[in-house]
Amino acid sequence: MGNFIDIILISKRRNFQRNIRLSFGLAVAGVVIFVVLFISTLTLFIYNIQRTYSHFELQQQEVEHEKLLRKLDSLRQYLKYTEDRFNSFIAQDNRERTYWQMAYIHPDIWSMGIGGKKYKPISESISNCINRRLDEIYESLDILKGKCMLRKTSLVQLYQKQQKDFQLWSHIPSINPVPGHRIGSGFGYRVDPIDKKTIRMHWGVDIGAPKGTLIYATADGVVSYVGWNHGYGLMVDIDHGYGFRTRYAHCSSILVKPGDFVKRGQAIARVGATGRTTCSHLHYEVHVSGVKVNPAKYISFASNIID
Ligand SMILES: [Zn+2]
Repeated sequence: MGNFIDIILISKRRNFQRNIRLSFGLAVAGVVIFVVLFISTLTLFIYNIQRTYSHFELQQQEVEHEKLLRKLDSLRQYLKYTEDRFNSFIAQDNRERTYWQMAYIHPDIWSMGIGGKKYKPISESISNCINRRLDEIYESLDILKGKCMLRKTSLVQLYQKQQKDFQLWSHIPSINPVPGHRIGSGFGYRVDPIDKKTIRMHWGVDIGAPKGTLIYATADGVVSYVGWNHGYGLMVDIDHGYGFRTRYAHCSSILVKPGDFVKRGQAIARVGATGRTTCSHLHYEVHVSGVKVNPAKYISFASNIID
C-alpha cells in the first residue's frame, strides 16, 4: 500500500467538487519540476537584465572613448599651434645673435631641443588609438620643453656676450678728449710745423683749444704715465687694457697721478703748449697693441661709442 496525496478542488458557485489523488512520488516530481522551471526562468531574466545593462555600459564607454579621442586631438592641435608660435622666438633669437655677432643655433638643434627626461605613457592597457595620440602629445611636449630650455641657454649666452662687449667697449677710446673742439692736424705725414720744411710722420691728431681747457679720458683705464717727455711736453698716458693705450700731450697741468683708475669722460688734464709746439692744443694718440693708429677712427664727435 503506497502513500498518496489528495488534492480536493471545490467550487461553491458551480456546486462543484473534485478529488485528485496523486502518489507521493508524482507530487514530489511535480514540485521539483516547478522549482527547476522557476529558477531557470529567474536566471534567464537576470541574465537578460545584465546583458542589457552591459550593452548600455559598453555604449556609454564608446561615447566616452570618442569624446576622449576628440579631446586628445584638440590637445595635439593646440600643442602644434604652440610649437609653431615658438618659431617666432627662434627668429628673434637669430636676430639677437646676429646683432651680438654670435653664430646661429642650427635648426637641427632647435628641432631636437636639449636636456630633460623624456616622458613615457604610463598605462599599456588603454586602446592603441589613445596610446598613439598620447605618444604624439608627449613627443610634442618634449620638443617644446627642449626648445624652451635651448632659448633659455641662448639668452644666458647673449647676456654674457653683452656684458663682455659692454666691458670691452668701456675700455675702447671712443670720445673726443676735448669736447666741442675740432681736429686741426690729422694723423699721417705732414710738413713739420716748427721748421716748416721737413716731412715728418704725425703719430696722432692735434685738437686746438685755449690753454686750460679740460681734457677728458676717452675710455676707462689706469693712468700709466704722468710727466715731461721731450717733445711731448707735459703728458699723460692711460692704459685701457685689451691692448689699448692713449696719450695726451702738450698739457699745461695734470689732474691725475700714475696708478689712478679713470672712467671715460673723467677730466685728467688741461690743454697747454708745453714741449715742441707752436700753439695751445692737445696732441692725442691711440696705440693698439703697441702700434700707433689714427685716433680719428676712434673718435665719434656725434656719440660716445664708435666702431
Ligand atoms: Zn701733434
